[in-house]
Amino acid sequence: RAKAEGRGVHRFFEPAMDVAMQARRGVELDLGTALAEQQFALAFQPFLDLSGNRITGFEALLRWHHPVRGVVSPAAFVPIAEETGMIVPLGEWVLRQACREAARWPKAVRVSVNLSPVQFRGAALDATVIAALREAELDPHRLELEITEGVLLQDSEATLAILHRLKRLGVRIAMDDFGTGYSSLGYLRAFPFDKIKIDRAFVADLAVRPDAVAIVRAVTTLADSLGMTTTAEGVETEEQLAHLREAGCTEVQGYLISRPVPADAVAPMLRAGDGGVEPTRPSVP
Ligand code: C2E
Ligand code: MG
Ligand code: MG
Ligand code: MG
Repeated sequence: RAKAEGRGVHRFFEPAMDVAMQARRGVELDLGTALAEQQFALAFQPFLDLSGNRITGFEALLRWHHPVRGVVSPAAFVPIAEETGMIVPLGEWVLRQACREAARWPKAVRVSVNLSPVQFRGAALDATVIAALREAELDPHRLELEITEGVLLQDSEATLAILHRLKRLGVRIAMDDFGTGYSSLGYLRAFPFDKIKIDRAFVADLAVRPDAVAIVRAVTTLADSLGMTTTAEGVETEEQLAHLREAGCTEVQGYLISRPVPADAVAPMLRAGDGGVEPTRPSVP
């Protein structure tokens, strides 16, 4: 019967077209117009430097304010945007927006931007970064790009060339989610990262598994000897913080310090100055 209705008619499969698939298709369609309709915003989450107890930067985290669904998490739409290629214009928007915001902050702290492996396909990424910096008149040293192992997995020669060009501009490169992939140590030899972000999975285990303490210590020691700094992600408790201080971690980030905040909450946080960071902030889901 499906055949009689011709090619491209998927009647036969309709019962199997479940709710999840339809929801995914809905997201895909909505993503197509979301950028033009200005439904995206950036939230910012600070890094706290442990030696000076100071905010030394903010990570830009993408938020989609969907007219019907409300705030959609990047975990739900970034993979779809990567499949459709939409991540390229969207990622460019994030870069430009993050640089523009950072240029207006009352202190010259860093801004960190997450990059998708897809943005490295084609050679235009460094041109996009340069354009974003120029347009915002932001010092390249204030921009940090976070990449995951997925970036180095693909066409690594071309990717490394782009990363080296960016680094020569003064842009910092961080390895995100360190420890969750397959051959993290190999990647550390492949490129001179400025910073390693220790994945939140290890941080979460700090209070409950002695081996997590050993792993975090090993990573900070290794980073040190390679001339890289470390940032622990997802710090939620004082106990975790104490372990991280002891392990010699450079910076921490997580709900204990601050949740991601809307763009207009950054300046007041920076002006609050050197007296540490208040833990309670307006939260962005
Ligand atoms: P990520 O870069 O590893 O970002 C850290 C994630 O952990 C963020 O989730 C952040 O809100 C969350 N987080 C921070 N502190 C804590 C904590 O103490 N506890 C817990 N449980 N979570 C914490 P978010 O904003 O939902 O982003 C998820 C992922 O989506 C990011 O992981 C990143 O991989 C991706 N992403 C976000 N923004 C962008 C973007 O602009 N471009 C691309 N390509 N990916 C992005
Ligand atoms: Mg990140
Ligand atoms: Mg991360
Ligand atoms: Mg992550």
